[in-house]
Amino acid sequence: MKIAIIGGGITGLSALHEIEKQRAESGKQVEVNLYEKGTALGGKISTLHRDGCTIERGPDSFIIRKPEMMSLVEELGLSDQLVKNHTGQAYIASNGSFHPIPAGSVMGIPTRAAPFLRSPLLTKKGKMRAVADLWLPAKKKEDTDESLGLFFRRRFGDELVDRLLEPLLSGLYAGELNELSLESTFPQFRQMGDKHRSLMLASRSMAKKRQQSAGTAQKTGLFRTVKGGLSVIVDEMEKAASEGTIHKEKQLQEIIPGEEKGYALHFADGTKTEADEVILTTPHQTAANVLPSLSVGEEMKALPGASVATVAIAFPASSLPETVKGTGFLIPKGEGDSGILKAVTLVHHKWPQLVPDGKVLLRCFVGRPGNDAIVRDPDETIVAQTLNELRKFLDIRGEPLFTDVSRWKSAMPKYTVGHQSRVAAWESALADEYPGVHIAGTFYRGVGLPDCVRQGQDVAIHVLSRK
Ligand SMILES: Cc1cc2nc3c(=O)[nH]c(=O)nc-3n(C[C@H](O)[C@H](O)[C@H](O)COP(=O)(O)OP(=O)(O)OC[C@H]3O[C@@H](n4cnc5c(N)ncnc54)[C@H](O)[C@@H]3O)c2cc1C
Repeated sequence: MKIAIIGGGITGLSALHEIEKQRAESGKQVEVNLYEKGTALGGKISTLHRDGCTIERGPDSFIIRKPEMMSLVEELGLSDQLVKNHTGQAYIASNGSFHPIPAGSVMGIPTRAAPFLRSPLLTKKGKMRAVADLWLPAKKKEDTDESLGLFFRRRFGDELVDRLLEPLLSGLYAGELNELSLESTFPQFRQMGDKHRSLMLASRSMAKKRQQSAGTAQKTGLFRTVKGGLSVIVDEMEKAASEGTIHKEKQLQEIIPGEEKGYALHFADGTKTEADEVILTTPHQTAANVLPSLSVGEEMKALPGASVATVAIAFPASSLPETVKGTGFLIPKGEGDSGILKAVTLVHHKWPQLVPDGKVLLRCFVGRPGNDAIVRDPDETIVAQTLNELRKFLDIRGEPLFTDVSRWKSAMPKYTVGHQSRVAAWESALADEYPGVHIAGTFYRGVGLPDCVRQGQDVAIHVLSRK
């Protein structure tokens, strides 16, 4: 069997790693090759080192609650390199000042009465509407998907959703809560809504259970990276791959079915190769483009992707007053004059190991759903506007030591209502029309790094199980 993996992001690399592992265990005759269009592997994982700072241009960490990424790190022998996040307080900007996310919130859902009722983030009326969740009847189970926004607004009213849930959740999944799919983003809330009368009480009991099972992990934070940044994991995966299996600067252009079986893969540099099975981990538009006669191609291309830019800005430590505490802050839509700034991580507080003494590093997320045109502007414009907005929130003295802008155009998939059934329909069309061609990765069944690792492993196992 000859397998081609297209794309050298974490999904493609995980598929390669799994295939090589299974081949070693089973002794099966399998040839596997990975083709990446860029000069480097990692896709959205991209770590930059500058003036002693470790700067993540894409993802900065992974959650340990989903085990796939942690297991991979262990397999790669990097356990002793793991770095835990510092669990400081995160804030939400409101009416020109910062307010802590109320203690005990689970994804923004209050689970402890006192901190929530004391918080100035919501009006008295907003709080009263939110606690109506405690006695509202549970909704009868329906099989159809619905939007996160509708689901939460029904339970808690608009204020809690707009002031707490939206800023927290729309950062994880690009898009407005009113259009995001409950089933594809937070199915656990749907299950809670089906089983329990109150989402607040259900979240509280879930948090308690997690605390008990996580033990110390809860206290040390649920996120990890490795010393040197996430690109270290990519480098180790590259080293672990058999010699000659990874081919860079190979941009797939078209997949043409063979006369009798398999596929011919045509690359932009004019070369071609053959494969029995093809695993596409590229963005969905590319997957649709390389399969020109796929009946669902246009539908696949229509999956919306949001654009964001991350702007890293370093200052001398003396530029930021010591009163600025916490790991970062979120800026709800409509706060201030509703600019481009969505969230800011204080990297020197969240990941102190990544920033040398004497410096502070801010990582700013720029671009909002429906307002992401800024991402296409030149670096100077993005930096100037980011600094301008930052100065409204923080009393920054002096100029930056350096800045770094990373653009992620249409790179954050929006899992809108009905996403899961659409993906299932695409997979079934592929199985009928291009048997042996598979899709996996961030645009389909989960955006977090552990989700992508899982998808890479699952597709690898599926491919190896085929005759
Ligand atoms: C700014 C940002 C912050 C994030 N933060 C986090 C975080 O903190 N934690 C977390 O868990 N997740 C985070 N994510 C999500 C996570 O980074 C991604 O979901 C994940 O990295 C996607 O991996 P992938 O392999 O599926 O896709 P990609 O990383 O996009 O890889 C796809 C690869 O395919 C290649 N390719 C494309 N076209 C072709 C072609 N024609 N031929 C050959 N190769 C091709 C690309 O060059 C690329 O290398 C973040 C994402 C972004 C954008």
